[in-house]
Amino acid sequence: MIIKNAQLITWGEGNQIIENGSLLIQEGVIREVGADLDKKYPDEESFDARGQYVMPGNICAHTHFYGAFARGMGIPGDAPKDFPQILERLWWPLDMALDEESVRYSALVFAVDAIKNGTTTLFDHHASPNYIDGSLDVIGDVLLNAGLRGVLCYEVTDRNGPEGAKAGIQENIRMIKKAAGIDSLGAAFGLHASLTLDDETLEACRDAIGEEAGFHIHVGEHQVDEYDSLKRGGLRVVDRLKKFGILGPRTIVAHGVHMDQAEAVLLAESGTWLTHQPRSNMNNAVGVAPIEDFLRLGIRVGIGTDGFYHAMWEEWKIAYFLHKAHHLDPRRMNALDIIQMGVKNNAALANLYLPDTRVGVIEKGAAADLIFVNIHPFTPLTAGNLPWQIIFGIQEGMITSTMVGGKFLMKERELLTLDEEKIAAEARALAPEIWKRYEGYVGKYS
Ligand SMILES: [Zn+2]
Repeated sequence: MIIKNAQLITWGEGNQIIENGSLLIQEGVIREVGADLDKKYPDEESFDARGQYVMPGNICAHTHFYGAFARGMGIPGDAPKDFPQILERLWWPLDMALDEESVRYSALVFAVDAIKNGTTTLFDHHASPNYIDGSLDVIGDVLLNAGLRGVLCYEVTDRNGPEGAKAGIQENIRMIKKAAGIDSLGAAFGLHASLTLDDETLEACRDAIGEEAGFHIHVGEHQVDEYDSLKRGGLRVVDRLKKFGILGPRTIVAHGVHMDQAEAVLLAESGTWLTHQPRSNMNNAVGVAPIEDFLRLGIRVGIGTDGFYHAMWEEWKIAYFLHKAHHLDPRRMNALDIIQMGVKNNAALANLYLPDTRVGVIEKGAAADLIFVNIHPFTPLTAGNLPWQIIFGIQEGMITSTMVGGKFLMKERELLTLDEEKIAAEARALAPEIWKRYEGYVGKYS
């Protein structure tokens, strides 16, 4: 297929914008980047981008599909006063309420959401303690049928007893082996957070994982994680994870809001990835991670949504504004740092976990994971000012088409692989039962 008449934003070296560009796509891969390729390859079917900007699909480095049914749900009793109460009264009872069908619909509604928002690769961190075995297959099948790429994991925890922890370990191991044979799926080994993991379980996880796999875990999202770890054995969270061999160049830690400087250095030294989720941090009122310090230390920081809708540009914008407001300084959080995290680092992380595919860039040999954006810039849009053009004026609603591996998942705003109306109607029909089960579990942890 030829994509013609496109303004190509490559996100490649030098952050090129190619005017009147065209792409040759074969077997899901960009074979040639140039101009007038429809004339060079007259036998190829061509798609006219009509002057739209065409760029790599966005990547989400940390999310939770399982939280989808929290949308519109009320939390019984007084409003939670802090993050531990949010866990105990919202997320932990909600994950208990999920069965096979609700896991499937959680993934389906967020697959629709991701495609419409131009997010084509997602790192999911899953929990459904009453339906563990096979849960990652359900999510994986949804992503495969939708045409998206994903990196899955199941969060091992001790909060539901030793059997639950064991089942979680097995689910990770199974999916790591299975995903190795599927190009568009990857798998990490999921851990909830230090505060719900005993030493024996951390050891069992370390023993279970092969050399090639990495962990995906929440770290220091709230002070309680650090205080719990200090109480267990006098170590802060990252020191504890180091002791159990959890850190390393394939491991992803989410948040890091309450780490101290020595913990940040440990992440940098071990090559561990960190993901930043500003919308979630603001909503949970857990604080602001010193992300610029992390970048200066050399930590590879990416950006995720933590279960918010998968509009990555929106997440970038919140990160851009949050750090300025927090520091009372408009010079903080340069847009180039946002691009480093949201584009470069997220792509490098995705390429680590999906080794047969090159995503996040338009160049010869890269996957044809593309979004078509209907922008009419009223000032010059250049490679130099693109980060600010996005932050101040480009929105997910301008995305007209989303393609993964050369296949349109959305074309001219019409979803081609999923029936949004039907999925939403069926999810709405399921929601009252899920909410009822959830209410039955509220109080279990508090
Ligand atoms: Zn999370």
